Amino acid sequence: MLHIGCHLSCAGGYLAMGRQALAIGADTFQFFTRNPRGGSVKPFDKADADALGVLMQENSFAPVLAHAPYTLNAAAADPRVRAFAFRTMREDLERLSHIPGAMLNFHPGSHVKQGEDAGIRLISEMLDEVYTPELPTTVLLETMAGKGSEVGRSFEELRAIMDASRTGGRLGVCLDTCHVYDGGYDIVNHLDDVLEAFDRVIGLDRLKAIHMNDSKNPMGSHKDRHEKIGEGFIGLEAMVRIINHPALRHLPFYLETPNEIEGYAREIALLRAAYQGA
Ligand code: FE
Ligand code: FE
Ligand code: ZN
Repeated sequence: MLHIGCHLSCAGGYLAMGRQALAIGADTFQFFTRNPRGGSVKPFDKADADALGVLMQENSFAPVLAHAPYTLNAAAADPRVRAFAFRTMREDLERLSHIPGAMLNFHPGSHVKQGEDAGIRLISEMLDEVYTPELPTTVLLETMAGKGSEVGRSFEELRAIMDASRTGGRLGVCLDTCHVYDGGYDIVNHLDDVLEAFDRVIGLDRLKAIHMNDSKNPMGSHKDRHEKIGEGFIGLEAMVRIINHPALRHLPFYLETPNEIEGYAREIALLRAAYQGA
């Protein structure tokens, strides 16, 4: 069974997202933990989180994926920006501990001219302080396109964050197909080689989720512009190989394509029909 969902708006709460996922043929979803470009957040509704937990259990959902705000940057030079990152990551992890199996994905950060090594150290410091052992949520580093001074543009950089942090053994990775293609990994013509490199550098056992996006730009562009499935430079054939690959087919896939809800429903149906076997 293909585990697939898409990014949903959290405006109506947790249960509403679970119901919307069911309505479009999904068995999981992704959502922002708070306003992605600001960081403001609604009060936490435990009853709503519990109701989602029941819906997930009754419908055999795959783990849901929370996405941290884009403004979370532990690698920033500005101490106020860093303080926001620490506080936000901690609060989000505390909330997510009420949603069984939830994972938290975040963009590692941007080092803003301080250099990769400083960025990696600053990110690992945040994880050491806020990702304490009692928190049940698995935190995922997202593979980045390499726009500007983004940290996490290569498998080696993600590995370096894991190695620098005491929490490294608990961290997973979310592979974004648009981002890795933008980063220069040829998942269209050499998917096996890319996955071999991932396994060598990070370990495929650390790969916990896939962001399923086509790309508006050719390989190596470092632009980070998502496209609808089959309408970009990655193309439908390569996408179908990805969902069926023996090393990937068991993972949850999350669409972040430029779509309204009807478009997401169509892409989910398209990929379900292309999934081989039960
Ligand atoms: Fe992301
Ligand atoms: Fe992504
Ligand atoms: Zn992106």
